[in-house]
Amino acid sequence: MCYTVHNFRAEARSLSAVESIVCPCVFQYASIVVTLRQINRMILPIVPYGDPVLKRKAVDIDAGYEGLNELIENMYETMYQAHGVGLAAPQVGLSIRLFVVDGAPFAEDEDDAEDLKDFKMVFINPEIIEETGDAWGFVEGCLSIPNIREEVVREEEILIRYLDENFNPHEEKFSGYRARIIQHEYDHVEGILFTDRISPLRRRMLRGKLNDITRGKTDVGYRMRYPVKA
Ligand SMILES: [Zn+2]
Repeated sequence: MCYTVHNFRAEARSLSAVESIVCPCVFQYASIVVTLRQINRMILPIVPYGDPVLKRKAVDIDAGYEGLNELIENMYETMYQAHGVGLAAPQVGLSIRLFVVDGAPFAEDEDDAEDLKDFKMVFINPEIIEETGDAWGFVEGCLSIPNIREEVVREEEILIRYLDENFNPHEEKFSGYRARIIQHEYDHVEGILFTDRISPLRRRMLRGKLNDITRGKTDVGYRMRYPVKA
């Protein structure tokens, strides 16, 4: 595929509803027609704090999981729209071991987060094998717990086994911010929220705000799924 076609394709993707375009490619004798399928990306509603799906340990999936590629695309779209750097399947109501990350927006905002620039990854059936290094505190937020941010202490390095979006297996070490994002999302597929990792006293102090989130009484700049499903 020539460069010109690629450019047209990129343009068509951003318009997201172009079915056919003509490419006046300099490397071809005649113009060619590129047909693109209509891309229907969807913003999925995010499940709020209090929904039992967020407390459930999610299950593995296999390569035949129906609509997986579309789900991954939709999860990215949903995450970007909500300005997140990670999103786990339970947060869109699916109790499966899948999460996506993209640290680029965080890298733009923080001076010391350079290593997040090229950190766009899909994790399927992940298992953290070990967590090592010094424990460090970082203020975390969560798309399922809007408007609440709390310091969470985690170890700085992880060894994780996972499948990528093509179901190729990997065993890889991550540290610093990369490890932090993975640990937060990994918790989601284990049925753990960052509020489970703060002191009982802090949690008690946040109870009113957390109840408001469950009842949909919090201002959120993105789509959430209400009422909470029992
Ligand atoms: Zn979260």
